[in-house]
Amino acid sequence: MTAALPPRSTIGILGGGQLGRMTAVAAAQLGYRCHIFSPDADAPAKEIAASQTTAPYEDENAARAFADAVDVVTFEFENVPDATLAAISERIPVRPNVDALHVSQDRAIEKTFLNDHGIGTAPWAPVSGPDDFNTATQAAGTPAILKTSRFGYDGKGQIRVDAAASLEKAWLSIGAVPAVLEGFVDFEREISVIVARGLDGNSESYVPVDNVHRDRILHTTTAPAAVDPSISDSARSIADNVANALDLVGLLAVEMFVTRDGEILVNEIAPRPHNSGHWTMDACAVSQFEQFVRAVAGLPLGDPQRHSDAVMTNLIGDETARWHELLAEGNACLHLYGKAEARPTRKMGHVTRLSPAARRP
Ligand code: AMP
Repeated sequence: MTAALPPRSTIGILGGGQLGRMTAVAAAQLGYRCHIFSPDADAPAKEIAASQTTAPYEDENAARAFADAVDVVTFEFENVPDATLAAISERIPVRPNVDALHVSQDRAIEKTFLNDHGIGTAPWAPVSGPDDFNTATQAAGTPAILKTSRFGYDGKGQIRVDAAASLEKAWLSIGAVPAVLEGFVDFEREISVIVARGLDGNSESYVPVDNVHRDRILHTTTAPAAVDPSISDSARSIADNVANALDLVGLLAVEMFVTRDGEILVNEIAPRPHNSGHWTMDACAVSQFEQFVRAVAGLPLGDPQRHSDAVMTNLIGDETARWHELLAEGNACLHLYGKAEARPTRKMGHVTRLSPAARRP
């Protein structure tokens, strides 16, 4: 394929966290170099990248120089400022496209996009100020969760609202910023699908997985999800539909709730590698990170079939102190992100425990 980047090309990555780090490892395996752009000089991804920029994301001059030093640009987190993306995309392809990023940056835009494409979400309404309180509680019902529209992750910027009368206090507590109020879903399980979509529009999804959160942070991912084939097929086709609708080139994670009546509601989408896809590093021939690199570099996608079943557990805060013990487990694959400081809710690593694949796909 003529559009494919040849080996030794440089992939520019905005963001320097563990997702960028694991992407850079996968890129190196395919003979690519990575250039990491992040304000943090000690970013985990920079330790293993070929080149780097240390500058604020708002620094458009640094962004232009970065664009000129690489062959394609992608990102490993969503909160890249618009002006920076515009400065970069004038000079070099950004994959996934900037519009796809915009959809996922803002919960109100994201939910509107999903609903406009016939994809179900929890009942929701935007909350920009006191004038919205009544309509929002009517649309979402109670209990509900108030979430900031932008800049939230791992449950940050979220608060439960048990009664209509407490919405005002909740909104003030999240900083009186634009938000969405979402009806609380009494879900049976949380699942996610990671789908890759290539330059040619072909897509390949991994098997849906079960996700368990603790304190709103992902705790374990079990692959495959223990769901009926009909749910698995529907979840994959929702992910395909969203990737097509976004005209995405890259990777998309779609987090979903499965209700007690077997309905699938999309909670959130992320146009990048995702924590719930880390299991693929050890249980599939082609990991989510390699698939991401393949898509962004214009290569054919790999086979997402798994050779093992897997349970991935995040290692948060000081949980990596057990690294020695985890290494001694026969079927456990340990991944550490090289972060210096183990803050209480910080993702420091993960461990994936494998067993022979019980059923396919
Ligand atoms: P989020 O940041 O939107 O992914 O939310 C983090 C976690 O909070 C989700 O994975 C769920 O476990 C829980 N959660 C978020 N929104 C809802 C909802 N509308 N109903 C029930 N639980 C939710």
